[in-house]
Amino acid sequence: MTVSKFSSLGIKPAILKAIQNLGYEAPTPIQAMCIPVLLSGKNLLGTAQTGTGKTAAFALPMLSQLDDKQKTPQILVLTPTRELAIQVAEAFQSYARNIRGFHVLPIYGGADISVQLRGLKRNTQVVVGTPGRILDHLRRRSLNLRQIKTLVLDEADEMLRMGFIDDVEKILSQTPIDCQRALFSATMPARIRNIADTYIGDAQHVSITAKTETVEQIKQSYLILKSHQKLDALTRILEVELFDGMLIFVRTKSSTLEIAEKLEARGYTSAALNGDLSQSVRERTVKKLKQGLLDIVVATDVAARGLDVNRISHVINYDVPYDNESYVHRIGRTGRAGREGSAIILVTQKETRLLRSIEKSTRQKILPFKLPSNSEVSDLRIQQITKQLVNTSRSLELKKFRALVDSISVQNGMDAAEIAAILLYEGQKDRPIFPTKIDFDLKQKDPSVTKKSKQQNKSTSASVASRPIDSSKSQHPSKQKLTKNQPKKKPLATSRVSSDIQMLTYRIEIGHNDGITAANIVGAIASEADIASRYIGQVKLQKTFSTVQLPIGMPRQLLTHLRKVKIRQKELKISLLN
Ligand code: AMP
Repeated sequence: MTVSKFSSLGIKPAILKAIQNLGYEAPTPIQAMCIPVLLSGKNLLGTAQTGTGKTAAFALPMLSQLDDKQKTPQILVLTPTRELAIQVAEAFQSYARNIRGFHVLPIYGGADISVQLRGLKRNTQVVVGTPGRILDHLRRRSLNLRQIKTLVLDEADEMLRMGFIDDVEKILSQTPIDCQRALFSATMPARIRNIADTYIGDAQHVSITAKTETVEQIKQSYLILKSHQKLDALTRILEVELFDGMLIFVRTKSSTLEIAEKLEARGYTSAALNGDLSQSVRERTVKKLKQGLLDIVVATDVAARGLDVNRISHVINYDVPYDNESYVHRIGRTGRAGREGSAIILVTQKETRLLRSIEKSTRQKILPFKLPSNSEVSDLRIQQITKQLVNTSRSLELKKFRALVDSISVQNGMDAAEIAAILLYEGQKDRPIFPTKIDFDLKQKDPSVTKKSKQQNKSTSASVASRPIDSSKSQHPSKQKLTKNQPKKKPLATSRVSSDIQMLTYRIEIGHNDGITAANIVGAIASEADIASRYIGQVKLQKTFSTVQLPIGMPRQLLTHLRKVKIRQKELKISLLN
């Protein structure tokens, strides 16, 4: 596995500070390979897919070479979808947070062109856009590529698949012959190779080699879910899997602390393991895990390197690994000393490609993990409560409490069974005895997504950012699953949600000054909360905050998740307005 430090790669201090703040511990393999190449000014051809950290692999070196005197765009990134354009622009913004006067502008079709025109007039250093809209601006002469220093084609094979490649060629032909060029693609079909030969020219090829590794003793499974469902899924896994020691892998140092804290709050003995902790604290944690004083450790790849604890029966890939090699390394922390091990990987729909690539390199099938149904969970919780009740009744002197039950019963006309039922109800907390919500798609699909279904997925998610709201067919959300829907007629700003849905107004801590639009807010909430945008009511932008209407009865857990959702790297911190 590539081991290096961000500080030794030649990135500017202001950018290093930003990635430190984001909790990145070490460069991912693709970053360790690409950053020096791009800093040296060479062209690059990268075979890398989403999830490998490829955005930072080009953004960090490019930001390190910004010319602060140039007033016209210096970096152009072409992406296949507006969703990716927004994501890449946000990544640039977050890495450049310590660069004064930095501006990045996402440009994509379907969004208000006047906002883009205004953006192009102020000193925007980085433009990230979809080919069609970039061409539009070139035709209008609102964008000029003559002074572009660096050009990136991101997800080039997707641009080809979506039919944008002619537009891409037209754009490429308008960029200076000597500008630095980088092309990233998950695959390298002949047409992309052709483009690379014609427009990228002499380039260094970087790819994460997929070595074949054996992982025999380990049962591997996957679970496809939305990112906000991960904690729920983990909680259920913990409930149903018989584990001894467990290692949970996350991407950032801050996540190790956050997840470990949440597990502690749910009654599990857990601790974080990351590179910020002193050597002695780390050693103590590992020792405790060995001795069984601790059952769960939440770690980053760097901190868990070489960890050798026989009792680790389970490895959970809470965040996907950056490449096959780190996956194999991670799961190799279990199944030690001839024991059996189990590895579960949580993936979002977008990351399923990685599953296939792991299967290929390990020559082993990763099977769908069967999460228990609500009624199975219910049975399990009832068994546990019953056991607990029996144990307590055997070990404790309850005379005073019996007397108390009698007195409550007499004074309030309730019988003992009713009081017991109320106490059981009150005692459920985060673990309802009769869970009603189906959180996950229990029928896990095969990861080999067909081209057609992928295309459909793309078009749904691509419509998120500037999706209009439909008010024609609304039912109350509680009576209908809140699924995303086709784009409908009314424009966002003026649309209203059907009057039979009662709405509450929430405040979010992001506004005009952060350079966002109402569409960004609707897009973020729709995709993170998996609510069809037609259930998202009026959005009003103020300077430093905004308000948004959401249906009554939003689950508390969803709101807690939405508090942490970020747009432009700022947390929404959603709260109910009075
Ligand atoms: P990408 O492959 O560019 O889509 O990145 C996938 C995710 O990995 C993003 O959420 C990044 O913020 C995160 N990421 C990228 N590089 C690192 C790193 N070195 N350490 C931790 N997380 C990272």
